[in-house]
Amino acid sequence: MASWTPHSWAQRPIKQDVTFPDQKEFTKVLEKIRQLPPLVCPEEVTKLRAQLKEVALGRAFLLQGGDCAELFDYCSQGPIADKLKVLLQMSLVLIWGAGVPVVRIARMAGQYAKPRSSAYEMVDGEKILSFRGDNVNGFHPSDRTPDPQRLLSAYFHSAATMNYVRALLNAGFADLHQPKAWDLAHVRHNHVRVEYQRIVSQLLQSLEFMRTIGADSNGNPVLNTVDMYMSHEGLLLEYEEALTRAVPTDNVEEAPRWFNLGSHFLWIGDRTRQIDGAHIEYFRGIQNPIGIKCGPSLEPEELVRLLNIVNPDHEIGKVTLISRYGAKKINDHLPAHIEAVRKAGHIVVWACDPMHGNTETAEAGMKTRHFDNIMLEITQAIAIHQRLGSKLNGIHLELTGERVTECVGGSMELSPQDLSLNYQTFCDPRLNYEQSLDVAFLIARHYQE
Ligand code: PEP
Ligand code: MN
Repeated sequence: MASWTPHSWAQRPIKQDVTFPDQKEFTKVLEKIRQLPPLVCPEEVTKLRAQLKEVALGRAFLLQGGDCAELFDYCSQGPIADKLKVLLQMSLVLIWGAGVPVVRIARMAGQYAKPRSSAYEMVDGEKILSFRGDNVNGFHPSDRTPDPQRLLSAYFHSAATMNYVRALLNAGFADLHQPKAWDLAHVRHNHVRVEYQRIVSQLLQSLEFMRTIGADSNGNPVLNTVDMYMSHEGLLLEYEEALTRAVPTDNVEEAPRWFNLGSHFLWIGDRTRQIDGAHIEYFRGIQNPIGIKCGPSLEPEELVRLLNIVNPDHEIGKVTLISRYGAKKINDHLPAHIEAVRKAGHIVVWACDPMHGNTETAEAGMKTRHFDNIMLEITQAIAIHQRLGSKLNGIHLELTGERVTECVGGSMELSPQDLSLNYQTFCDPRLNYEQSLDVAFLIARHYQE
């Protein structure tokens, strides 16, 4: 295989590419980003890589979640704190349910770029460029020309988001210890609410016990500051390249290693995972743990070839396979993928994205997802892995900490008619705060049974 550089991807055919009309300015912006400091440290990336090895070996569980398309406007106190809160609460429920530590990765602080099924769309009878994410163009139809300044803006919004997350975590997020932080009033059925309440009470009692014996103060940093890693889809390779930095190893004789220091974890989307394509070429050279989205069109032998390219040393947990077939199709695809990966001797993190294969259009024309299909894909994933002597190691969700109405169902029983109440997303429909907690409670119950 030809030698890798942070720019070798440019020799390969690329999908979902964006052309910035002002190339001069584009080059200038990239130069500027190259000079800006990293957003994360190699030590953090390496730590996550070690934790994901534990996940792959079944000794921890992965919770990854956040917006489909993060907007610059979400870089604000409330939305950041709300997202952090829901992820932390979900992780506590999962720790309780699955009985193992939870590794948390947010789709946040950089989840701006979006792949689209079509480069153009029709708006009011006019053909215009599709919205490609806040780091490329604006959602408003008059703002669709790709603007390089948005890349710079993406860097600074990522930095501000990351900074506030770090500040909140350092300050302890003590409110999770309070019963009032757990709002369960939305749960329609009494028996479900009682059950959730029982779990929360047990959780809070355990946290209180830890506090009483002093285990959650200075002596035990685990409960005071928790790890929360950041991730996004590595789509715009010029931007990713500008944040790819050489890090010397401890051994002076060894060549430096390349890390993407714009985020801890990056994944390749289902639309850009071509074996000979630019994205796979870029991803094979970075030290970060990476994800690959696996949809129904991925042949098992193709999956093995991909793994051999991005992880030739067969490092355990370096790759997270994020399957997204849909509740109706998971049975047709997951078993063959599990068998092929096992036969090839790879030990990966198996995560289930129950969102992207279950998108449908509601009567009112909005994109939505049914909570029941989301749960059905997760429970089938757990069962299929169990049947094959494998293990589901994590979930990958599109969610928000706010009370949006984008997915139907859940314990609040949101109906298709309710969607218009607070439909906010500019891309795919997300689980709201309540529905996200529902997923955690139901998985916890599943593991407890
Ligand atoms: C996404 O995660 O928002 C996405 C576009 O997913 P996929 O690549 O699986 O379609
Ligand atoms: Mn999405």
